[in-house]
Amino acid sequence: MTARVLIVDDNSANRRLLEARLTAEYFTVQTASNGADALAMCSVDLPDVILLDVMMPGMDGFEVCRQLKSNARTQHVPVVMVTALDQSSDLLEGLEAGADDFLTKPVDNLALITRIKNLARFKVLTDEMLLRAASDGEFGLGLPIEGKSAVIESQGRVLVVEDREAAASRIVEALRTENQIFHTTDPAQAVLSLPSGEYDLIVISLSLRNADGLRLCSEIRSLDDGRHLPLLALAEAEEQGRLHRALDMGVNDYIVRPVNTSELLVRVRTQIKRKRYTDYLRSRLEQSVELAVLDPLTTLHNRRYFTRHMKALFDRSVDCGRALSILLIDVDRFKLINDTHGHDAGDDALRALASRLRDNVRASDLACRLGGEEFVVVMPDTSLENAYRVAERLRHCIAAMPFVVGLQRNPINVTSSIGVAALEYGDDRPELILRRADQALYSAKRDGRNRVAANAA
Ligand code: GH3
Ligand code: MG
Ligand code: MG
Repeated sequence: MTARVLIVDDNSANRRLLEARLTAEYFTVQTASNGADALAMCSVDLPDVILLDVMMPGMDGFEVCRQLKSNARTQHVPVVMVTALDQSSDLLEGLEAGADDFLTKPVDNLALITRIKNLARFKVLTDEMLLRAASDGEFGLGLPIEGKSAVIESQGRVLVVEDREAAASRIVEALRTENQIFHTTDPAQAVLSLPSGEYDLIVISLSLRNADGLRLCSEIRSLDDGRHLPLLALAEAEEQGRLHRALDMGVNDYIVRPVNTSELLVRVRTQIKRKRYTDYLRSRLEQSVELAVLDPLTTLHNRRYFTRHMKALFDRSVDCGRALSILLIDVDRFKLINDTHGHDAGDDALRALASRLRDNVRASDLACRLGGEEFVVVMPDTSLENAYRVAERLRHCIAAMPFVVGLQRNPINVTSSIGVAALEYGDDRPELILRRADQALYSAKRDGRNRVAANAA
């Protein structure tokens, strides 16, 4: 990742040092020697991360940060404040000004690279999700994306894995003020509790006495429940090697012991905020993607999805020389069901039919509602003969048992007609297969309904 970093510092030696270190890690670097220049540069071209010195003559770093964060154009650019050593008052003021992270002087190289990489990664991820949400929005499918304020600010759920009693109780005490804390001394227990824990963050000691904290980090990253979970490592100053490995495994942030509890609290808070923001974007995105491809009445896939996937399944079958068949299913005399029992009862019948379809095809088959009372099932690796058998089975399972519909729970008999067609070699196309299935369906209707007909080209 070659993120663009803007370094803002009044001291030219500091600027050169930071620039050299970041350039060595393949970041693209710009520099400014005061706040006004930095703001002017941002109004021309946005960097991916801003590294901002606090103590500068004229406008100090806090003020620059406040201005960046109050401007809609620049507010999403992450800001790292560079503060004097151990000034927790600076830390607080920086956070209030909207800073996303901070580094203390003298700036440690690993801390510098880790924090900038992390922020750049976070920005790429959220930019990407915002962009996709915006393009869904253009099709009228997207849900509006509110700002970060939409993220509910409830207590964080934090799991602490530490088997040294004194250290554990100090950490738990510090975090308890604004989080719900779970503590374990046993990594195996931590892994077991992942699915039900719904944690926002795990704090892991890399220097456990009775287990390997690194192994725990890698195990969590390999699990579905742990892939996106923020991890914060606690490392001894002399454990640089293990800390590097932890960061390579995807640990999000770290603190070097002895733990400064206000730093711990701030880092925990930041990780939880970022997780909630990305979770929120991810779920909005999944929702809008689902809405776009599902039929709301039956929750089967809709015509839009059918068209797209039929093409993909067709191409794959042709490429691999495999069979492919489709069934086109239409409810018989459905208008009569609506007219006799009401439209709601008709809807119930469609839902019930959809679930019989779903229960009676393979997981690799694709069942969709094309619209109205018409459904399609696409069956990869299935010959016309086998598709015909499946169609007979479906027809029977629809006709054999009455559907229970409407407020009165009336049992009604429903039958269907099914047209079957298969991929034919030569120059077949998805729409030609669908047309042949439609012709077969027409003959099934014409020949008396409640029957299956196949159409070979
Ligand atoms: P055929 O055996 O020839 O297929 O007769 P049919 O009555 O099933 O066919 P027709 O196309 O004449 O009628 C389909 C009916 O389906 C008409 C329409 O009002 C109804 N319909 C379409 N979509 C829905 C829906 O979402 N819910 C309900 N309840 N009815 C629907
Ligand atoms: Mg300065
Ligand atoms: Mg019909």
